[in-house]
Amino acid sequence: MKIAVVGCVHGELDKVYQDIQQKEKAENTTVDLVLICGDFQTIRNKNDLKCMAVPQKYLSLGTFHEYYSGKRKAPYLTLFIGGNHEASNYLSSLPYGGWVADNIYYLGYASVVQFGGLRIGGISGIFKKFDAEQGHFERLPFDRGSIRSVYHTRTLEAYRMMQIANDKNSQPIDIMLSHDWPLNIHTCGNVGYLLKVKPFFRSDVQNNALGNPLFEPLIPHLKPRHWFSAHLHVRFQATVHHDETTTTNFLALDKCLPRRPYFEFIDVSPTDKQIDESRTLQYDPEWLVILKKTNKYMSIEKFPKVKVPQIWIIAEETTEQDLETVRSQFNNDLLVPSNFSMSEPVSSIELDSDPERVRNFSNPQTVAFCEKLQILEPMTEMNKGLLQHTNPDEIDLDDGDWEEGITENDQVDIKKLKSNETGEDDDLATGFVIDTQGRK
Ligand code: 5GP
Ligand code: MN
Repeated sequence: MKIAVVGCVHGELDKVYQDIQQKEKAENTTVDLVLICGDFQTIRNKNDLKCMAVPQKYLSLGTFHEYYSGKRKAPYLTLFIGGNHEASNYLSSLPYGGWVADNIYYLGYASVVQFGGLRIGGISGIFKKFDAEQGHFERLPFDRGSIRSVYHTRTLEAYRMMQIANDKNSQPIDIMLSHDWPLNIHTCGNVGYLLKVKPFFRSDVQNNALGNPLFEPLIPHLKPRHWFSAHLHVRFQATVHHDETTTTNFLALDKCLPRRPYFEFIDVSPTDKQIDESRTLQYDPEWLVILKKTNKYMSIEKFPKVKVPQIWIIAEETTEQDLETVRSQFNNDLLVPSNFSMSEPVSSIELDSDPERVRNFSNPQTVAFCEKLQILEPMTEMNKGLLQHTNPDEIDLDDGDWEEGITENDQVDIKKLKSNETGEDDDLATGFVIDTQGRK
């Protein structure tokens, strides 16, 4: 199976597909699947820009809207996870995953799916310590805090991933996707090279603070054959040796810019244990069981009443009976339905029923999925409890501006960067501060 793996897209979807097609021709090969590691920017019209956290100069529409409206169709089945620059209103209507356009599937906050006999997992977002334990409380209208916290990875999703069985009878995870790198993954690669091309990572490297700590335990637990990430805008390889025969091959890709190593073709074949090699997107039955069993921890409150256990506690063992139950809930058909439709507020390219982005709409795909699996549909729940949720006494623990989170080290790094690099892409070079502060 030939897979095109892509780093940060930043709204340049046309360019990404063109480049893949060009390479496909040049190498006389056929790509079966495209995997994108976030900062995808599913902007349906200009009003969605109100829900994306980016500096002013990056507020552009991009080309996704043409895929949304059906003017263009993605030439390959495309799976992606969320980064820190997204139409967060649209993505949060698909918390468990779903089609954002025909042939383009978002994996949700986290999920595992199957394609061509491969088990592919993804976990969205970047890390910010103070938000990790919170529920998925963000709703429209976003404020300066929630427009950012909405894409911060939560412990719930890491906990869910940790519930995947890893005994010798289980089918391994072939591919994992994340936007942020797993914490300390650079220690399994050429750190000297990394610091040479990205000198301003030095303080994070020294403080063991480069990457997402919620992803770190997933590597030794899941031992995925491949792990792909983006976000740090550099191509970087690392190999994690689990034992003599098992390794995880980590590859981070750059951002979609001319002459930058932002995508790569990878050959991945299913291992022997796998049976279904059909080239269709399928739900993963174990993941469905985990979603159901951990639904008790899914919360739309900022401070959830039921706390997520420590992520390394493996508590939700999946039995044959559990698998049987979800299969029957899905009528023994785990094919992900091709049920994309434009939906409110952007039900057609001319029609926007909430231009100010103040209302929370349930996505029909999520409603159908949650009904089948009997789990919480966050938007329905939010709209139900709208009045109860306004508590004027609530203390806001958000730090608000990310400018406030700059450490002295960062100031030094920013200065260094300004003098060392042309700064064509790095937000730091323009005075924009990365959103990884406050986790140390
Ligand atoms: P984005 O495209 O997500 O706004 O920003 C990514 C940029 O921020 C990249 O250029 C990357 O080098 C920088 N960056 C992101 N996370 C970190 C981090 O944890 N430490 C440092 N030093 N830089 C980061
Ligand atoms: Mn990013």
